[in-house]
Amino acid sequence: MINNTKKNKSLKPFTTFGFEARARYFAAPETLDEIENLLADAQKSDIPLFILGGGSNVVFACDFDGLVICPRIGGIKVVDEDGEHVLLKAGAGVVWDDFVRYAVEHNLGGVENLSAIPGNVGASPVQNIGAYGMEAKDSLVAVNGVFIENGKQFTLENAECRFAYRDSIFKNELKRKTVVTHVVFKLSKNPEYKLDYGNLKDELSKYDEINLRRIRQSVIAIRASKLPDPKDLGNAGSFFKNPIVDRTEANRLLELYPSMPVYPADSSGKVKLSAGWMIEKCSLKGYRENNIGVHRQQALVLVNYGEGTASELIAFAQMMQTIVFEKFGVIIEPEVNIIN
Ligand SMILES: Cc1cc2nc3c(=O)[nH]c(=O)nc-3n(C[C@H](O)[C@H](O)[C@H](O)COP(=O)(O)OP(=O)(O)OC[C@H]3O[C@@H](n4cnc5c(N)ncnc54)[C@H](O)[C@@H]3O)c2cc1C
Repeated sequence: MINNTKKNKSLKPFTTFGFEARARYFAAPETLDEIENLLADAQKSDIPLFILGGGSNVVFACDFDGLVICPRIGGIKVVDEDGEHVLLKAGAGVVWDDFVRYAVEHNLGGVENLSAIPGNVGASPVQNIGAYGMEAKDSLVAVNGVFIENGKQFTLENAECRFAYRDSIFKNELKRKTVVTHVVFKLSKNPEYKLDYGNLKDELSKYDEINLRRIRQSVIAIRASKLPDPKDLGNAGSFFKNPIVDRTEANRLLELYPSMPVYPADSSGKVKLSAGWMIEKCSLKGYRENNIGVHRQQALVLVNYGEGTASELIAFAQMMQTIVFEKFGVIIEPEVNIIN
């Protein structure tokens, strides 16, 4: 028995795919104390724990026979400031896009290209959210949280978070071992805009003057025209990550498919391939089986047409992985967290 929790709670309204799954216990703590008490109780009862944010990157494959904690710590605070920068500390439960809006309205740059990404601040470092050439790691200073095992508080500086493309220590060594309670970002009073990615530049070309608000509006407009809104059609954004391969593998593929898009992945010389392009080349874009399908406009986005189940989705995703592997010899890995 865990105090201050709801029992047998449906998680359907808390995840953007909208599949039915139940949590044995569910709590939405608003303070660090409440989180610490819940962790202590769960430890005593020896039951599994899962930390849920906005549920926009999670699929529960089955009912969760443990405690789901949904941190709702709010607040955005200025913790330091100089002539060039402002340090903002945001609670894990702040909706990510409310944080971006706050930054833009205060003329602080560094997260504007990340407008309209669903989810909460607490999850932003987990997969190092990114869009339009910008990532959370570019402006993140530190992550505060609590270790699940012993309830001890921690602070991890940016370098300690081991950020990479859609990756961090929270998906590896610290996977399911922490509750992020706050995240600190360093934002710029005189930002350099990042406009070279995707069609952001084209969208902004209709304005004489570019500023943070216009960038935010443009990102929101582009995203709304391309991505299905989970309120209308269950989804979790890009279901698969773009595979990162070494140069030799990329050259092999380029000989076979000269028009294949390849991008430099990082300073290690590795190369990022487009999972969406490969899925499209396998004629899977728009493909549907019963209630699950690949979105008609976005080959990376899998959707729940209404009455689908998580098992149908997982089987569908595995079928896609097999088809892509048979054609290209490349494994496409899910970006979405599948919880068993
Ligand atoms: C329409 C759509 C578009 C999207 N576009 C993008 C995009 O452009 N770029 C991008 O990077 N992502 C994108 N995503 C994915 C998603 O928005 C991000 O992964 C987001 O950060 C998930 O936040 P969340 O709060 O919903 O986390 P959840 O889905 O609830 O959780 C994700 C992971 O983080 C962990 N977690 C969550 N909160 C905490 C916490 N407080 N402490 C510890 N662990 C925690 C969970 O345990 C889980 O492992 C998109 C999703 C959708 C539905």
